[in-house]
Amino acid sequence: MLSVYLYENSTEIYNLEPLGNSEEKVVVICPHPMAADSLRSRISDPSRAEVITISKFSSDLLNKIDEEIILKRKADLLGQLATIWKKKLSDYAADSFFDSFNLFTELRGYSLDFEMIKEVLPSYDEAIQKSLPIYWMYFEQLGIVDEHKANEILSHHLKIGISEEVETTYLFWGFNHINSGQIDFINSLAIRNKVIIPFPKEVFKQTRPGDWIRWFKADELREELTEFKRDVKSYFFPKKRLAQKLKEILDVEEVEQIVLAEKKVTLDSCLEVSVLPTHFRTTADLFSAYTKRAIDEIESVVGEGIECEELISCVKSKVAFELSKNIEEKNFRLIKVYSSLLKIITDYKALSDDNEFIKFYDVQVVREIISLNLPRDYFAPISNLEKKISILGLNELESSEDVESIFLLTDAYQGVKKGGSKYQEDIMKFLSSLGPIQRPELEFLMVREKFRELLDKGKIIFCIQEGLVESDRSWSEFFRGVEFLREEIFTPKVETFRNVLETEGRSFDQKVSASKLQTYIDCPKKFFYTYLERKEIDASNSKDLRPNEIGSLEHEVIEKYFDKVRNWDEGVLRETVSEVYKKFVEENRKLLSEVKEKISLYEIYNYSENGVKYILNILENMVGSEVSFEAFLADKEFVSGRIDCIIKFEDKFIILDFKRSGFSIPSKGEIEKYSKIQLPFYLKHFGGEIQDVLFWGFVNLSNTEESLLIHGGHELGKDFMERVGLGVKTRKSAFDDLNLWFSEYCEFEDEVIEELKKETLWRANPSKDDVCTFCSVSNLCTRGSV
Ligand code: SF4
Repeated sequence: MLSVYLYENSTEIYNLEPLGNSEEKVVVICPHPMAADSLRSRISDPSRAEVITISKFSSDLLNKIDEEIILKRKADLLGQLATIWKKKLSDYAADSFFDSFNLFTELRGYSLDFEMIKEVLPSYDEAIQKSLPIYWMYFEQLGIVDEHKANEILSHHLKIGISEEVETTYLFWGFNHINSGQIDFINSLAIRNKVIIPFPKEVFKQTRPGDWIRWFKADELREELTEFKRDVKSYFFPKKRLAQKLKEILDVEEVEQIVLAEKKVTLDSCLEVSVLPTHFRTTADLFSAYTKRAIDEIESVVGEGIECEELISCVKSKVAFELSKNIEEKNFRLIKVYSSLLKIITDYKALSDDNEFIKFYDVQVVREIISLNLPRDYFAPISNLEKKISILGLNELESSEDVESIFLLTDAYQGVKKGGSKYQEDIMKFLSSLGPIQRPELEFLMVREKFRELLDKGKIIFCIQEGLVESDRSWSEFFRGVEFLREEIFTPKVETFRNVLETEGRSFDQKVSASKLQTYIDCPKKFFYTYLERKEIDASNSKDLRPNEIGSLEHEVIEKYFDKVRNWDEGVLRETVSEVYKKFVEENRKLLSEVKEKISLYEIYNYSENGVKYILNILENMVGSEVSFEAFLADKEFVSGRIDCIIKFEDKFIILDFKRSGFSIPSKGEIEKYSKIQLPFYLKHFGGEIQDVLFWGFVNLSNTEESLLIHGGHELGKDFMERVGLGVKTRKSAFDDLNLWFSEYCEFEDEVIEELKKETLWRANPSKDDVCTFCSVSNLCTRGSV
């Protein structure tokens, strides 16, 4: 028997109220370990409830049915399907493989019957249309059991009955979404057991017929929405002044718990509010910098292609080299990364003869697999102080204590978003006939409901960035019914701040460049040590070329090549590479080993070739255009900097920046939100009008197909991009109305420059998690050393 239990407050679940009597025991199934942990700590009578995750429950049951069944993990499937792609579909871009893989795993959540799914294929590109039937057939023929197939097997056996099955009460708790296969599984479980699915009553009133909860048999609820109204004492602070405001608030308020407006708290966001001993748990990114380093090394070894055996021995020698160091010098994280890579590459090779030879595409596959395979680590500060403030995110509201709390909201936090769907409307319509579609608004309503429970307790105050709620649709909706009672703190005019690293008092009065502005946006303290009191460690070494040195050499080669010819000529490129390289090593007194020199020259030649061919393609398709490199920005009075490449076609422009790899290219979203400003800065200062820019973006010299190009928001730009064979993405973006986006950017830039010119405090305030990871002055800064 299955029932949906509509609750008004989560405490009903913690007190096990949905159960029939006070003796009844229950198995509670949660979506992930975090939900299970928080429920265990809240349940009023733990002796009556066994709490487990759904993956543990399914794999135990699967094992009971047939211990021979091997459930394949996502990382294994990725390697297998990548090999199939290479065999049959390698004419398409490597990116398309990853898109097709993700879509494949998603669609299997709707149905395992390909005949049903194939209806959506015409809405996707050719690569997807060709690849998905092949993947499906491969799974069928080899009888591969992924999580979706496992659900089907479990449903089947539960329907016919599993031997020694004892009637049990199950409660499914904490799910934001349940897919079609899981619905079938839960319904089958309910044939011989009692299954209860609790769901917040107020949210249920706002659900739509296609939402996952409505796929279970639930009684209609004909009640009006209950009006929500609460007054909350609220402090406000200007942008980027959270830490300062929080310190003032904590001088006048007793707070035992901090709730951040982040879905998942990050180490940086916790450290930013770490004004007192705090207690929190965040994921720790222990391996990403080393993984990037190791993959970059592999990329440069692989170049145009390499025998897999040769690559394996290269990685083995790297492991051996690290292991041969003294214990104090051994880099254990790097050893872990190299060893994982070794296993992944060896397993990948064993999949097929096609993997005996490794190319750039295979390295991307290995990169994805290692990111799935490396251990998930957590960071939790240890302190023996009794008084500690807990920090939670919006996804952990269930773990919140009934104590005095403060809710912090800044524009840097990733809150819950109300709208958006990853599917086009027609696909969504079709898929909704097969199973529930994940709807961000439903998740939004569920989080808001939990947050409202917190407000109901009356023990929370707010600390909110000025103007943010009014300007953000999702936050305005999140706080519907909340009255902010503005509270001020009166402090003496002269404030004294503890000046640990003596960054205060100095100001910046020089010209601004894109990189300076970016550094300031990334972190004021980093700016101080990079530009005002240069403490950056110069890692220059006569026996090596640094990545930025190799990048500059590649830029120079491309420029010098076009000084000589404007058509493809391999001999000219070889000659240019050799001239530029020779001059550089002489001037900089570099003495590289033969192997290192070979590897560097190999990259410089190949990446420059990619750049040259990319530019040539544009020039050939836009007859009469002129190209210039290292062009100075026009506003020389106020700003400094040069643009890698400007192509002028009649009175129109194309603005390009060269990058050595995709890693240094920002995402479209980061540019849209002005968190990466290099190119918007160029657009503002290049000396022309935005309407005259046909397209602009970053050219990825390692793989030009993975460049990021943005059209000028008008048909002409799109036409020209298509004319030179650069695909135009159809996804909606802020760039569709480029003029509006750009005028808002200009205002943003003016404000940040004004702020920079007035800055005297230079606080450690990194804008994102990874800013500290790659900060060259992190060794001077307590934030960075954590
Ligand atoms: S380590 Fe982080 S907080 Fe410190 S200066 Fe660098 S970016 Fe800023």
